[in-house]
Amino acid sequence: EEEIPEDHPRYEDLLTRHRIERGVEKGITHLQGMHAEGRGSAFDYLLGEETIPSAVEAERAAAAHLLLADHPVLSINGNVAALVPAEMVELADVVDADLEVNLFNRTPERLEAIADHLREHGAEDVKGLEADARIPRLDHQRAKVDADGIYDADVVVVPLEDGDRAEALAEMGKTEIVIDLNPLSRSPQVAEVPIVDNIIRAVPNITEHARDLADASGEELEAIVKEFDRKRALEAAEERIRSGL
Ligand code: ATP
Ligand code: MG
Repeated sequence: EEEIPEDHPRYEDLLTRHRIERGVEKGITHLQGMHAEGRGSAFDYLLGEETIPSAVEAERAAAAHLLLADHPVLSINGNVAALVPAEMVELADVVDADLEVNLFNRTPERLEAIADHLREHGAEDVKGLEADARIPRLDHQRAKVDADGIYDADVVVVPLEDGDRAEALAEMGKTEIVIDLNPLSRSPQVAEVPIVDNIIRAVPNITEHARDLADASGEELEAIVKEFDRKRALEAAEERIRSGL
């Protein structure tokens, strides 16, 4: 990161790639995570590498959902841990959420490496290691969650989530907040709040909205949640990408 000049026109993209490479080296990110990053990078390019207005609304709605939640949980995979560890810890603090490691390619080594990485960035309690509950209708490895974590959550933030698991979580009745740069991917399509934005920008934005809304009444938060139109947000993102082409 030290070697990337901050005034480089593609600074953020270079930084992202660098963090994913370091994540792979540290055993945090699976090689497949590099491919996922490449796809995300292409969509971000088409979006103009900025948070579009519909994403701002989604990020505010996400903050309202998290503040209203009884038990919010933030799901962490290898890309999320490599890209925004401190930012996820901070968001969890601000909205009083749990952090749970949740991996597509699950190995004990990667689980431990990610939990350690999060603790190095200030996390106190990291869930996902017990894996004592299952999401219905998913194959064994991908169904594993903590009974007192995602399984029990009413609101879950699942960045860069696999489509099958996003669908299964929605079927469990959870309010899903998905961060994904591809508005056509299944995960944002099934999310109650699809945030089409780079996770690097989205997470600090949600935190900022949550701080801003800390003293808002329940009614005010409910109004923000109700006003948000998920279909319109997805359409606005797709339109932006098409006009970018
Ligand atoms: P599928 O149809 O199975 O969902 P996919 O191409 O969406 O296929 P995933 O493993 O879900 O495969 O890919 C990860 C998703 O994460 C992609 O949609 C990609 O655009 C998105 N993504 C990658 N990097 C980022 C990032 N930094 N911020 C936000 N989204 C990202
Ligand atoms: Mg996807």
